[in-house]
This record gives sequence, C-alpha cells and structure tokens, in this order.
Amino acid sequence: MQATPERISERLEAVRWGVREALNESGRGPDETRILVASKYYTLEQMGALAGAGVEIVGENKVEDLLRKQEAFEDAFEWHFIGHLQRRKARDVVSRVTLIHSVDSVRLVEELAKRAPEEGVEVLVQVNVSGEESKYGVREDEVDPMLEVIGETEGKVRARGFSTLAPLVEQAEDVRYVFAKLRTIRDRLKNRWSSRFDLSELSMGMSNDYRVAVEEGATIVRIGRALIEEPREARS
Ligand SMILES: *Cc1c(COP(=O)(O)O)cnc(C)c1O
Repeated sequence: MQATPERISERLEAVRWGVREALNESGRGPDETRILVASKYYTLEQMGALAGAGVEIVGENKVEDLLRKQEAFEDAFEWHFIGHLQRRKARDVVSRVTLIHSVDSVRLVEELAKRAPEEGVEVLVQVNVSGEESKYGVREDEVDPMLEVIGETEGKVRARGFSTLAPLVEQAEDVRYVFAKLRTIRDRLKNRWSSRFDLSELSMGMSNDYRVAVEEGATIVRIGRALIEEPREARS
C-alpha cells in the first residue's frame, strides 16, 4: 500500500472529480457537497499530506485521536467528530469541533447541553435507516422526539441535519435506498422544524458509495480509505 503525499493528492483529486460529476449528473450545483476526510486510518505524517493537498475538513472517530492530531494540526483543518460519542467524553469534544455527526441518544444531547460552550455546539442526528443491519443511530420514529429534546436546550445544542452509516455491500447501488430515505426524512423534518432549526445537512456516503450518496443529496461525504488504499477491484 503506497500512500505518498503525491498519491494522496491524486486520489483526493479523483474523489473531488467524482463528487463534481455526481452533482452535475443529478442536477445539483458544483459546491453543494463538501468532502470530509475520515482520518481514523491516517498517521500524523499522512495528516500533513492531507493539509498539503488542500483538505479542509477532517473527521475523527475517537476522542484520543482527535486530541492527539489536533495538537499537531489545530489550525490546518476544520474538525468534526464522526464516531460514536460516549457521554463521559462529551466535554472533551464540545469545544474542539464544529460539528458532531453522531448524536444518537437523548442522554447524549443532555450531556452535550451541559458541557457546551456559550455559543453552543452543532450536531447531526444519526439515523439508523437500514434497521438491524447497522447498530448505530436512532430509528426514524425517534427522530422527532430527539429534535424536541434538542429544542429544549435553548441553543446549547443546535441540530443541523442528519447522518447515516449505510450497511457494507458489494455494490453501491444496493444502498441507494438508504440515502434516498434519509433525504426523505430530512425534507419532511426540515419543513416541520424550519422555525427552530436549519436542518439542511445530510452526512452520508463513504469511499465505496459516495457517488450514489451525492446523487441522493449528500451535503457532506465522509471519505476514508479511498485516499490511502488502491481502489477495490470492480466485482461483477
Ligand atoms: C471510517 C469512517 C468513514 C470512512 O469510511 P471509508 O469506507 O474508509 O471511506 C466514514 N464515516 C465514519 C463514521 C467512519 O467511521
């Protein structure tokens, strides 16, 4: 596995091109999807390569990694948190990231509200669209009650939209329904909650399926391995 800074740059360019193409093909504007690099597999050296390649947003899964990498690259990126967040670690994250993609319980919302800085913290509600295949996120029918609770934090926690983890499949087309369904949920709730939240964001799509996610409306794709591994061989 070769992941020199040059290769990382080349692969990032390929992902940018793929995102732009998917936006264009689905009639969306060229800037409607942001690329976040899911940096859990990246060494500090490779983080440097991401900065050099012009990556703007990185997302970490673990609080320890966030702290360690931020120490070295604080100003180089906008930092998001994308992994499962334990309540006892909420306080370490709230002031360090601009968006938490993985809010999946009322108790976590309450903890975030308690620990958030004056200006509050922005979050996405993680939805388990596919049912039992993925264990992360709330069910669709739990989303509205969750937004109620977020509303009660009086701006300490602010909902900006939704995220999902699609099941792992061989063919990206097989998870198109997951992305389409999250968009439908977003559209419905965006209207209903428009007086209190701007629920525009849809964080969905990873290395293997980001084009399909963009076609279905992703505003943020989370790209991990695609920049450091050779692409998987196409399977028939
Ligand atoms: C690792 C990770 C990704 C990126 O996955 P790849 O398949 O490596 O692109 C995206 N989202 C989350 C929450 C992750 O943990």
